[in-house]
Amino acid sequence: MEHGAGGEKMFQFLREFVLKELWSSGEVGLDEMEDSGIIDGIVFTTDSYTVKPIFFPGGDIGRLSVSGTVNDLSVMGASPIALSLSLVIEEGFSIEDVSRVMRSVRETCLEAEVPVITGDTKVVERGGVDSLIVNTSGIGKRSEYLDRNFQVVKEYTGRVYKWPLDSNLSPGDKIIISGNIGDHGASILSERYDLSRIESDVAPLNNLVEKCLKIGGIVAMKDPTRGGVAGVLNEWSQKSKTGILIKEENLPIREEVKGTCELLGIDPLEIGNEGKILIGVVEEMADSVLEEIRKNKYGKNAEIIGEVSPDVKGVVMETVVGGKRVIPPPIGDPVPRIC
Ligand code: MG
Repeated sequence: MEHGAGGEKMFQFLREFVLKELWSSGEVGLDEMEDSGIIDGIVFTTDSYTVKPIFFPGGDIGRLSVSGTVNDLSVMGASPIALSLSLVIEEGFSIEDVSRVMRSVRETCLEAEVPVITGDTKVVERGGVDSLIVNTSGIGKRSEYLDRNFQVVKEYTGRVYKWPLDSNLSPGDKIIISGNIGDHGASILSERYDLSRIESDVAPLNNLVEKCLKIGGIVAMKDPTRGGVAGVLNEWSQKSKTGILIKEENLPIREEVKGTCELLGIDPLEIGNEGKILIGVVEEMADSVLEEIRKNKYGKNAEIIGEVSPDVKGVVMETVVGGKRVIPPPIGDPVPRIC
């Protein structure tokens, strides 16, 4: 299970047994392990969803599969154009539930203003899969605001970028989270362990991202899904070859999420989010970008959680009591099958 959990084990597995065997090309290819690949100006991504349970507080596999793919395009600085939708259904799965999931796909597509234009359906024998697997792929084109965004980066820092990649971070850049941490993972946990209900944050964020790019100064973006905030910050730190220092007191985490995580011995920084983005932004623009995010209904609890710092190695958190704690890259996801 750890080989598919979005942590260190998965990256090792991919490098040794998958990427090595494949041929890739493009401006951003498979080797870079970004949220999307880029070729001939087209931003392209794919994702399969195996969430258990299929219906959870605040969403379902339909909303999740549209949001996840839309967000993976958005964080690459792309405006999503269209999606594909593939279903692998277990024999005996309720037809009413298929309809319910499709209605949710439709609603989320309308919200994001991204249509499904192609798809595929397979049914396998009982036990062949667990109820329903959904795959969505998506294409996007370069956001009309991306050039201007990087123009602002250049004006303040002299740094020149074409796409918001994981390797773009540089000392002084601020790190913003667009809202509360750990809601999706905690929602799945609350459902599985029959704890008090926690709503997932699952949502398409293309609109929010476009508004941020319009403000400008963003160097990197990523949606902290499997592996959570800890996973993304470590990936950024490794690929940008610099330390990242975050402050515990600035982390927005709901009390219920903290409580659920404490009860189960899980770190909220390591569980998945499905409606949040981490943004790396030049320090001069951090407050303006934060202000813009907070205007959005999905960004009300956004915070600047830290900065890129050459003074630390890897990812380090200054705790509320004033100590320092290393945030290691997650080995796997403490909650399997959350997306
Ligand atoms: Mg992603």
